[in-house]
Amino acid sequence: MTGTSTLSLPARDARGAPPLLWVENAHKYYEMGEARVHALRGVTVGVAGGDFVAVMGASGSGKSTFMNILGCLDRPTSGRYLLEGIDVSSLTKRELAGIRNRKLGFVFQGFNLIARTTALENVALPTLYTRMHKSERTERAAEALAKVGLVDRAGHFPSQMSGGQQQRVAIARALVNGPSILLADEPTGNLDSRTSVEIMEVFQDLNDRGLTIVMVTHEHDIARFAKRVVVFRDGTIRKDEATVDRPRAANVLQALPTLED
Ligand code: ADP
Ligand code: MG
Repeated sequence: MTGTSTLSLPARDARGAPPLLWVENAHKYYEMGEARVHALRGVTVGVAGGDFVAVMGASGSGKSTFMNILGCLDRPTSGRYLLEGIDVSSLTKRELAGIRNRKLGFVFQGFNLIARTTALENVALPTLYTRMHKSERTERAAEALAKVGLVDRAGHFPSQMSGGQQQRVAIARALVNGPSILLADEPTGNLDSRTSVEIMEVFQDLNDRGLTIVMVTHEHDIARFAKRVVVFRDGTIRKDEATVDRPRAANVLQALPTLED
């Protein structure tokens, strides 16, 4: 799939099913008083279930605008966005909020954890907007912490954890309602290189278990852990390629020095 956008492109994958995410000929204008910024200029991208996409490109190239559309936080000025084949623009605010809470998980550069609140309670937070019994909330939160390898930190406060551990808690929080898609905007932006690879190990592990991931990163060393790299330039897609010789983060970690070395 390339950035050349024609409306005749079918929103179907090879098996005839709609892709999990389908952005078609999306344009985005921001009005700034007199000025008008053309942030996306005809972007067409499909993401199949099970994919792991790294989004790259210079600052200002449209990455966050694109992610906001994928996350139903903003809409394209023109063009379409289909999530599981459903045109998101046809949904009410309430339906959109429901989709954001159930189908999408978000991870950011800052971990955005609540201080003086344990890891387990932080992770359980998104379940407060669902109909779930307290015991089930705790159980789901513990399961999510286990998925990121942090069972033994459930009772810790954010201040008692490293940056990498805090980001894992944030990932567990994003997973707690069982989303099918994880959207991450520079998830390793605040982390050192070894910890960044550890986060990629978590992402590859989750992706192996079926989670679809779209992740913005500035670093080629991080993007190579994804299955596919999409490069933005000036609001268009400049490149969209499968990753060649994708490394396993777990193997890379074995070759990296640890803090004790
Ligand atoms: P990136 O994430 O790749 O750095 P963005 O999607 O944030 O790029 O921005 C793309 C362009 O749109 C930039 O020129 C930016 O200044 C502009 N832009 C982004 N958000 C807004 C906004 N809320 N209002 C006005 N202009 C914006
Ligand atoms: Mg950005």
